[in-house]
Amino acid sequence: MKYIFVTGGVVSSLGKGLAAASIGTLLEHRGLTTLMQKFDPYLNVDPGTMSPYQHGEVYVLDDGAETDLDLGHYERFTSGVLSRMNNLTSGQVFDTVIKKERRGEFLGKTVQFIPHVTDEIKLRMHQVTENNPETDVLITEIGGTVGDMEGLLFIEALRQFALEVGKENVCFIHVTLLPYIKAAGEVKTKPTQQSVAKLRELGIQPDIIICRTEADLDEDNRKKIAMFCNVERKNVVAFRDVAHTIYECPLDLRRDKIDRLVVDKLGLGHTPSPALEDWERFVQRVIHPKHKVTIAVAGKYIELQDAYKSIYESLIHAGAHHDTKVHIVRVEAEAIEDHGAKSVIGDVDGILVPGGFGDRGIEGKIQAARYARENKIPYFGICLGMQIATIEYARNVCGLKGANSTEFNKGAKYPVICLQEEQKGIEDMGATMRLGSCESILFTGTKAADLYGNIERIHERHRHRYEFNSDYQERLQDAGLVISSVSAEAGLVEIIELPEHPFYLGAQFHPEFQSKPNHPHPLFAGFVAAALEHSQK
Ligand code: GLN
Repeated sequence: MKYIFVTGGVVSSLGKGLAAASIGTLLEHRGLTTLMQKFDPYLNVDPGTMSPYQHGEVYVLDDGAETDLDLGHYERFTSGVLSRMNNLTSGQVFDTVIKKERRGEFLGKTVQFIPHVTDEIKLRMHQVTENNPETDVLITEIGGTVGDMEGLLFIEALRQFALEVGKENVCFIHVTLLPYIKAAGEVKTKPTQQSVAKLRELGIQPDIIICRTEADLDEDNRKKIAMFCNVERKNVVAFRDVAHTIYECPLDLRRDKIDRLVVDKLGLGHTPSPALEDWERFVQRVIHPKHKVTIAVAGKYIELQDAYKSIYESLIHAGAHHDTKVHIVRVEAEAIEDHGAKSVIGDVDGILVPGGFGDRGIEGKIQAARYARENKIPYFGICLGMQIATIEYARNVCGLKGANSTEFNKGAKYPVICLQEEQKGIEDMGATMRLGSCESILFTGTKAADLYGNIERIHERHRHRYEFNSDYQERLQDAGLVISSVSAEAGLVEIIELPEHPFYLGAQFHPEFQSKPNHPHPLFAGFVAAALEHSQK
């Protein structure tokens, strides 16, 4: 196996994850099998317990691992199957080392950062290598910025690892920022020089430097960076701000032939240069669509760019599929409580209520669902959004005044959403929800079954604690609510819909974790199609 390590310098939010994922795209299009992973230096065992304000979206894998949102980029940009083995945090590393110490596995030795903690990181590298023999290139992104104290052990472990597997099998890529100083009219290379110097102090000489830049990277600056950072001129690669969509990133990085540089460094030079027609066609459809729809996403962390990342991306995928630009209006659910649904989302073509936790903004989301139902505006509820639609239907159609989820009102008169028995005694917050892929049965004759192409069983990813309360199932069904899918194992309600509505559908799972650029998720595709129809009325 060959290894690529992607580190970052100067500042965070450079698009390091996108750079890493784009390299994956280019290598896959050269016919190589890639696998991507992320090392995160923070002390949380996983990001599952972090607030979206800290971390953005928590991305869930098939096996139920709650991971960094960069793994979402990896799954959208490449096809390698990811598991909990592919997101390692300092929290996991220390947890394992300390448990080993308690079991006496260090045979009386003093347990130290080096070698015991670094060994644990290297052990993970070896395990991933062994478990994925078919992989040609393993791409590992290191979270944080070089120079952060908390990242030091990871950098040291990678230095050692490269020596062990042979430097010819490893390519170090450092992503940095070239700030543009307006007053001087100049792009500055000094921060890059200093950050590479820092990396070299830690024993790592980068093979390729990716320079994130607003403007173009001129020849003088390329030479300067090459000279001071001790890399060849051709190995200084520009990574420009893309004009329209993140899916342009692989095309941008290809301009400086990054994939060629990587395969040369790793001795994989015989692979053909990438045929990217499918990717280019997708990008063209995103940039120059024929139609346009406006979709409101009504949530609680709406001011954060990253909180509903996968949902926004899924809407883009579905839009491209229908040659449609999806203009997303991000709506703070509390604003609907204050000003009413009509004034906030009165003129949109579709309303999406995403997942969420806690009671802030809940009533606003319920109003949004009601407005969509009554005015025949396409509605798509995801996880919490499905629970919201259930509560709204119970209250306003079944006449169950006071219906609620016990998450928001423990003593709700009609607890139409509630905890399952097995969730009741749980005290730990981390990794204790219903998580990961589970099989459900689709009922024929429903809109959901139609959208999925009339298959019988689906596999979708979950991340929630509360469920549709089966005690109310009959009453809601009698009032017209259709249950279109239930879990294969326990019969839990997975999808609800309203047949008399152009598109009114709620899913207890998270379809946004399985949508890809040229393979939009069928439910998103159906939702955008309905919104398009609404816009043309
Ligand atoms: N808070 C809800 C639950 O735990 C929904 C979770 C979600 O939307 N991801 O069931």
